[in-house]
Amino acid sequence: MIPFLDLKAQYCQIKPEVDAAVARVVSSGHFVLGPEVAAFEGRFAEYCRTARCLTVNSGTSALHLALLAAGVGPGDEVITVSMTFVATTAAILYSGAKPVFVDVDPVTWTMDPGLIEAAITPRTRAIVPVHLHGLMADMDPIMSIAQRYGLVVIEDAAQAHGAEYRGRRAGSIGDLGCFSFYPGKNLGAFGEGGAVVTDRPEFAHRVSLLRDWGQETKYDHVIPGYNYRMDEIQSAVLNVKLDYIEGWTEARRSIAERYNELLSELPFARPRPPSYSRHVYHVYSIRLQRRDDALTLLREAGIGAGIHYPIPVHLQKAYAELGYRAGDLPVTEMLANDFLSLPIYPELLPDRATEIVSTLRNAGALRPSEAAGNRAQQSQSFTTRSCNRRAS
Ligand SMILES: *Cc1c(COP(=O)(O)O)cnc(C)c1O
Repeated sequence: MIPFLDLKAQYCQIKPEVDAAVARVVSSGHFVLGPEVAAFEGRFAEYCRTARCLTVNSGTSALHLALLAAGVGPGDEVITVSMTFVATTAAILYSGAKPVFVDVDPVTWTMDPGLIEAAITPRTRAIVPVHLHGLMADMDPIMSIAQRYGLVVIEDAAQAHGAEYRGRRAGSIGDLGCFSFYPGKNLGAFGEGGAVVTDRPEFAHRVSLLRDWGQETKYDHVIPGYNYRMDEIQSAVLNVKLDYIEGWTEARRSIAERYNELLSELPFARPRPPSYSRHVYHVYSIRLQRRDDALTLLREAGIGAGIHYPIPVHLQKAYAELGYRAGDLPVTEMLANDFLSLPIYPELLPDRATEIVSTLRNAGALRPSEAAGNRAQQSQSFTTRSCNRRAS
């Protein structure tokens, strides 16, 4: 068995510290907006290299409040991508605005900046690029288009804690950056959590009001708000984990490096992060011709694998009213058809990566999807290395 994710392995590593931190909160009797939240906000802002961080109760809430703080509302349009988790789109709809999808780049799998201008209308108010799988979108052209048209940029960095673009951290380039601390994310709480980071004091102030019922001081409600606060226990856990994130990220990057070396058949169908980026590999995806067969094969071999994401948001039944149809976003749709995510987490032993790739190779499943570039296919030759090592 090789699980897709092993949260217990991470917990075991830090158990004494994290248990003590949780116990400290429980015995303090202070559960909401207390010292753990304040400490984490200061430290996470520093980690993201932004002036401010405001924690909230999920990544979805972070996106929702970032949009509201930036003044996005009914009648506005927000440009985003469809190759993402639904939360990006849902948050735009919560704000009352209309999501407008642009396609992604076939190499980076993130927002194609060349398609943004054609999607801008007089109603466009914001751009929400998504740092898919932990690779930052191509921010320079996105920021310069936003500047030219007076648009706000909100980074969906839910998968990209510590990712970098030309030396700048995820969340610090746009006007606001949004993070999730869902347990499976690179920095995960023991429950739900999220954060908005920004350099703009007025945005930070609005997020701080909106997450706590619009209260300037207790029972003085200056704007209508929400109960979107992150609790002290989650903050205490995150305060412990923040000390480890850099090491964990480097472990993810070295497993990705191992996969890249092993997957010689797939030079065009594996992640190809541009040299300016620090990919943090929340997900390691490859593009296979018979993806569904490969997924079944891995699952039968006891190897956790997934698809991020199998149905793009614009083709989800839930969002049919947006009026998109199959064929509207060809690159996004191709990726949804051929993406396969392999296990990647800091505790995954490098030998396991070898075992996973061997399982695929031995079954003849390592054929790159045609769309990903079939040049590699011609030189394909499958080794017959046996794979009888079983994980404990
Ligand atoms: C996880 C995720 C979200 C939502 O975060 P939650 O904490 O689950 O609400 C938003 N966008 C992306 C890209 C995500 O991966």
